[in-house]
Amino acid sequence: MTEGADTSAPTPALDTAYFQRWLERATEVVVEQADHLTELDSPIGDADHGSNLKRGFRAARDAVAEQRPATPGALLMLVGRQLVSSVGGASGPLYGTLLRRTGKALGDAPEVSLAELAEALRVGVDAVSQLGGAVAGDKTMLDALLPAVEALPGSLAEAGAAADRGAVATVELRARKGRASYLGERSVGHQDPGATSAALLVNALVEVAGDE
Ligand code: ADP
Ligand code: MG
Repeated sequence: MTEGADTSAPTPALDTAYFQRWLERATEVVVEQADHLTELDSPIGDADHGSNLKRGFRAARDAVAEQRPATPGALLMLVGRQLVSSVGGASGPLYGTLLRRTGKALGDAPEVSLAELAEALRVGVDAVSQLGGAVAGDKTMLDALLPAVEALPGSLAEAGAAADRGAVATVELRARKGRASYLGERSVGHQDPGATSAALLVNALVEVAGDE
């Protein structure tokens, strides 16, 4: 299942500059894709997912530029706090928890390995599941995040591909958590906006891995 993933690429140094590039790329992608995310949130939600994330990531980018956190862990915790305080929808506290808990799990290391990132992300994803009560197959962001965490010890590229597959697979699922669950069976046939944005955020990690 490694088609398309360049598993021979050396693992880059996952230092503060790397996570800063991730945040810049993530903000760019969220802004580019905001209308699409909001469109996905129309039939099975309240049409605000793109604008929610746009506001959140812009606030996070500004806070990081101003406060210049010194470690990957501190950077992710700061992004998480900004998402919690600036996003009104369910995705704010959920993504906020993901990033705060992942960042906290990284501790104060100046640089982390792929294995350490995978382990920390697992802690963050578990916290999202605890906070929102959702599990795999409930048609939420977890359906992209969980496969990404499973694949991440292999490579960043494998994690990105797994998140994409997970997001697409939400089309067939019936929502059991969040606003979309109010629609019951009528939620089937639509891709989940949160799983879609989660795949974008994981792929931003892949996209900036080769840059310096
Ligand atoms: P809201 O639903 O409050 O309008 P958003 O539109 O920003 O918030 O985010 C919706 C997304 O949040 C959904 O597509 C889903 O992926 C995710 N979500 C909602 N509830 C949960 C939950 N309990 N656990 C995990 N993810 C959830
Ligand atoms: Mg919404």
